Amino acid sequence: MQLNTVFILLGTNLGNREANLRDAITKITELCIHKPIKSSVYETLPIGFDSDLKFLNQVISIVTSLDPFELLEKLLEIELLLGRERQGKGYSSRTIDLDIVYFNSDIIQSETLTVPHPRLHLRRFTMVPMVEIAPDFIHPVLGLSQTRILSQLEDKNEVRNYDITDHPKD
Ligand code: ATP
Ligand code: CA
Ligand code: CA
Repeated sequence: MQLNTVFILLGTNLGNREANLRDAITKITELCIHKPIKSSVYETLPIGFDSDLKFLNQVISIVTSLDPFELLEKLLEIELLLGRERQGKGYSSRTIDLDIVYFNSDIIQSETLTVPHPRLHLRRFTMVPMVEIAPDFIHPVLGLSQTRILSQLEDKNEVRNYDITDHPKD
């Protein structure tokens, strides 16, 4: 059985955001061999569309025997299960978004799946949690560590540590 180490970015800015992260991680854990390693939770402003609803973002690292396409299918199912609705083209608010950041050090380019994710290394809300849990992991296309990518990032949008105990009713 092949064991794959995968990093997944979670994002949510609709409904009970903390519950959305928790429920998604519970469902993802069912696909895993070990318990996931989790970054802290971060709060960020939406990028690419207008909304007052801030995002919570978190990165988890899992070990799974699923192949990349099986995993993507399962993640899309979990998005639907948690009430994700897609409204036409472009970015919009969502209860949960699950993106595959890295799948081992594999490079995949297909119509439905691009790994490493083609935009996440440009986004501070991905790289801050990545550096927290895997600072030395090398981006297989860029050949740079997560720490190095973060230090070179042009995206200066604030990524604020979100302390769950400060928000008992969120
Ligand atoms: P972005 O990808 O820029 O963060 P988004 O997450 O809002 O945007 P979605 O509407 O959630 O985009 O995803 C559209 C499609 O992207 C998915 O149905 C999936 O087939 C495809 N996709 C390609 N590469 C990946 C990846 N690495 N992780 C998740 N989905 C991916
Ligand atoms: Ca996304
Ligand atoms: Ca997505």
